[in-house]
Amino acid sequence: MSLVKFKSYNTNDTIAAIATFPSKSALGVVKISGKTALNIIHKIFVPRRKKDIRKAKTYTLHYGWIIAGPKAGKKVIIDEVLISIMKKPCSYTCEDVVEISSHGGVVALNKILGVILKQGCRLAQPGEFTYRAFLNGRIDLLQAEGIRNIVEAKTEYTLETAASQLKGESLEKFDCIKRAIKDIFLLTEVDINFPDDCVTEFKAIKNKIKNISCRIKDILESEKQTRAIKDGLKCVICGKANAGKSTLFNCLLNEERVIVSEIPGTTRDVIEETIDVKGVPLRIYDTAGILTPRNFIEKKAIEKSSKIFNEADLIMLVLDGSRALDGDDRFLVNKIKDLCNEKSNICDDTKGVVIIINKSDLRQKLNLKNISHIKGFRVKLSALKKEGITHLEKAIFKATNKFGDKTKDMVFLNAYQGEILKSAYEDIKEAEKNLNQGREIDLVNLSLKNALDNLGKLTGEVFCEELLESIFSNFCIGK
Ligand code: GDP
Repeated sequence: MSLVKFKSYNTNDTIAAIATFPSKSALGVVKISGKTALNIIHKIFVPRRKKDIRKAKTYTLHYGWIIAGPKAGKKVIIDEVLISIMKKPCSYTCEDVVEISSHGGVVALNKILGVILKQGCRLAQPGEFTYRAFLNGRIDLLQAEGIRNIVEAKTEYTLETAASQLKGESLEKFDCIKRAIKDIFLLTEVDINFPDDCVTEFKAIKNKIKNISCRIKDILESEKQTRAIKDGLKCVICGKANAGKSTLFNCLLNEERVIVSEIPGTTRDVIEETIDVKGVPLRIYDTAGILTPRNFIEKKAIEKSSKIFNEADLIMLVLDGSRALDGDDRFLVNKIKDLCNEKSNICDDTKGVVIIINKSDLRQKLNLKNISHIKGFRVKLSALKKEGITHLEKAIFKATNKFGDKTKDMVFLNAYQGEILKSAYEDIKEAEKNLNQGREIDLVNLSLKNALDNLGKLTGEVFCEELLESIFSNFCIGK
């Protein structure tokens, strides 16, 4: 959606859209919001019990039929439906809202939408219902972002965090920071306006500003983890050819995504899938088990694997328990030993490591003492027989749990909101610097004002067209 289009949203119009994904499904929902929503439904809906639907009480359900205008003198029934009436101001948009639950299916839903639009309302833009909820003061911008993340949630973890944001917990965090800044801002105002009458406690102010900058920094730092929770932690499966990586990958995925074969080196490229392990989203990469390239393609495959290896948050090394450790295993074990001490991309801790001793269904020949020098969780399993997978899931959860330490600070921000928060942080740091260097209080006052302004943009108190655009243009139609 372009900026111009966003500005031209006419909030006086009644809008309508299909709110569910139009496909072959049992049910579908079409939503209408605005001044004429009740009049429109009155014209196109025939209730089973004769009544004037416009006079129905709010939060009521009504059974009947949606009809199209007369065809050959007769009204045509489009579908048997249930209508929900939600009158202003107690609705999603704070306007009169009607939701039509019909049978699913592209044709039926489009036909119902077509009949509604013919009554003089227009098709809603993406996110326009939520935009109205914001304009009418029902939600703030952080809640709007929370709603978007609920709709897009890939795992339970994302859903939980987004839901707490929708409850207003993120707003409360920022309000608390804003209140603290405002208190200091007012002290600086007094100092500026009545320089002779007041003795400002600069030491106390310095401490308070430091505290605020730490709180904003914590939220900014949790951003990497928030992104990981949303997009998934990078987890790489490595091991020499034939160790059983692809079998394990398929097992975790519960499908035959990767070709499993006895010929070593069958997986030539890196394969990626997202899975949910106890609510933690993992982007799993099955890497080529080739360690010494025989041709150009294999060389490229190794290069790609190495890159993913370095970027990974979690490394799963698969060893074949039915064979003694060989040169290829040792090469990987040493590589992981070095990587173990490297910092993770998403937290101050080191990368997570899980060592998998596969093929536990066969006679075991691997001497565990030979791998005792590398850190990490150890799990024995049989990927082929699908035995020990729950132990692996527990180990993955434990190894990745440290990345969730800062979840209390997590706030879902889009890229633009993140930039605004960074600016607020810089404003606070500037105020701190000016205070420490004993500069004029006017400068401190100005930086605090800028910080308040930026935080106001985040919550929606200060109007920022670009921010609105960045949030609402990413919604789907009907939300
Ligand atoms: P990759 O090269 O590491 O991806 O290994 P694959 O997953 O392609 O497996 C190589 C061979 O080992 C195949 O014949 C698999 O059926 C077999 N395999 C994998 N996991 C197990 C296991 O747990 N037990 C047994 N007995 N065989 C396995």
